[in-house]
Amino acid sequence: AAKNNGRNCWSCFTSNMRAATEIRSRTAYELRSALRDQQLYLLYQPIVELATGNVYKAEALIRWQHPERGTVYPGEFISIAEETNLITDIGDWVFKQAVNQVALWQTNFNAGFQISINKSPKQFISKMSDWVNHLNERGLDGQSIIVEITENLLLDVHELVVKQLLNYRDAGVQVAIDDFGTGYSSLSYLKKFDIDYLKIDRSFISNLDSKSNDRILCEAVITMAHRLGMKVIAEGVETDLQKELLTSMGCDFGQGNFFSKPMTADKFETLLLQ
Ligand code: C2E
Ligand code: MG
Ligand code: MG
Ligand code: MG
Repeated sequence: AAKNNGRNCWSCFTSNMRAATEIRSRTAYELRSALRDQQLYLLYQPIVELATGNVYKAEALIRWQHPERGTVYPGEFISIAEETNLITDIGDWVFKQAVNQVALWQTNFNAGFQISINKSPKQFISKMSDWVNHLNERGLDGQSIIVEITENLLLDVHELVVKQLLNYRDAGVQVAIDDFGTGYSSLSYLKKFDIDYLKIDRSFISNLDSKSNDRILCEAVITMAHRLGMKVIAEGVETDLQKELLTSMGCDFGQGNFFSKPMTADKFETLLLQ
């Protein structure tokens, strides 16, 4: 084994690369059966109305219960799903799950309940899925669903993206810009698209208590959003002080571990019943 210590950095590098590639192709392979074998599931994180503490929105966040690896987070498989185009099937599955769930929670808790889902850029480029039809078949209002997209997607104003966004708008589906402030910061898309929510990225929230710059930026985003007729959701709220500051700034909604971590639908229901 001592002989191996003589390996130069290049061979270490290439063997690490090879290992990483192997993990990725293995993950891609396993992901296909994961969908079929029902190893994917959704967690729900409450989006809290700051002025009242009411919860009538939740973000759906995907997880993979892997037979050997345990819980696998989206950061480890969404980009692989995009590369292999499996993201279309996964995205359709997420949407259908969310629609079933929101139908239930609208009946049992609040007729205005909304579930927010994440949509990858690749999902826009691939075939137009018939999500809107699915909503109509279930007799659900388009407003039952919020679609979260990233800023970067809107910058590259692909024809299909525009078409799909307009389709959603026609059906009443709401649109949120996710991780706002971290993408290419061009504000021109706010003018071009009818956006309902800005989700301020958690990197602006985490130091809100100590950094006056972040406070100024949050205030400015909230003012701008309101004047453009949009609502603001602060991501990654972790402390009471952050919640208080955001509330006093007039931020509409907060989401984060301070309120609750993402949880199973069952746990979420228990929370809603309280
Ligand atoms: P995102 O949409 O920005 O989701 C917020 C992420 O922040 C989630 O990570 C959530 O668990 C985490 N989070 C929430 N509150 C806190 C907090 O107080 N502190 C900290 N440190 N983190 C918090 P998660 O679930 O690992 O998801 C990561 C990303 O994966 C999401 O970021 C989203 O871009 C993507 N993703 C999740 N589910 C889906 C899905 O169904 N489809 C697609 N295409 N992407 C998804
Ligand atoms: Mg999101
Ligand atoms: Mg986000
Ligand atoms: Mg984020």
